[in-house]
Amino acid sequence: MKRMLISFCLAAASAAIADTSANYPVNAMNRMLEVECAKRGITIVDYHVHIRGGMTPELAAEREKAWIVRSSAMDNHGREWDTKNDSQLLKFAEKAKAVSCRMPVGIQVNDRDWFRQIAPSTREKFDFILADTMIMGKRADGRDNRLWQPQTIDDPEKWMKEYFAHNMRILDEPISILANPTYLPMELADRYDSLWTDERMRRLIEKAVKKGVALEIQAGSPYPRPRFLLMAKRMGAKFSFGTNNFDSKPKDLSRWLEAITWLDLQASDIWTPACLKK
Ligand SMILES: [Zn+2]
Repeated sequence: MKRMLISFCLAAASAAIADTSANYPVNAMNRMLEVECAKRGITIVDYHVHIRGGMTPELAAEREKAWIVRSSAMDNHGREWDTKNDSQLLKFAEKAKAVSCRMPVGIQVNDRDWFRQIAPSTREKFDFILADTMIMGKRADGRDNRLWQPQTIDDPEKWMKEYFAHNMRILDEPISILANPTYLPMELADRYDSLWTDERMRRLIEKAVKKGVALEIQAGSPYPRPRFLLMAKRMGAKFSFGTNNFDSKPKDLSRWLEAITWLDLQASDIWTPACLKK
């Protein structure tokens, strides 16, 4: 009786302090997503949850208890990022796993030699590695060239050759997810179809399929565009979902719903890490 009373009190206390501000709203769009996922047997996991801007592993865990979209927690690693070494990564993994043992924990890798910096024993503590192609080379001041910042591109085709090679090199790294595939800096956004030729798309998808790297469908990003998604589906690629949050506010997930219905995705098209296959 006493034990029952204690567990009741603990449950009541945790319910009282649960912060539900990051949870997805029950709206028409989210209901449609729920129906489509149920119909297709798809479990959606958001593999692009940054612990930043007020988002915490606790809020991510609370969010996944409340609705069908499951959470993960990810640390950003790199020389120009807060997390730079193994001990910081291990601390992050330990903290996130303590909050929820079922929530996959990942690293977004931002240096192209990350696999030489991070010890294999540290990597083993994580369930997935996510990379995007949005940092390429160095600026004149020696800092990373972040492609979402203003760029000077005199010869788009020459730039694209270099960028495509950069994409292919990233696929050579031992990553699990390629985030925001076929991203272009804003200066080149209107040249998408001429720069991302079918041949370039085909080679990138072929490599991702061969290496078992998932291609991300990101809420809120216009990349990858439908032509790429359709080609990837036809070539047997696996897809992952991500929000790429900057804070703890829930994002609009209509792009996920569009992709699921338009591509007629089934459970077998969705990438699953080893930790969720057990
Ligand atoms: Zn990210």
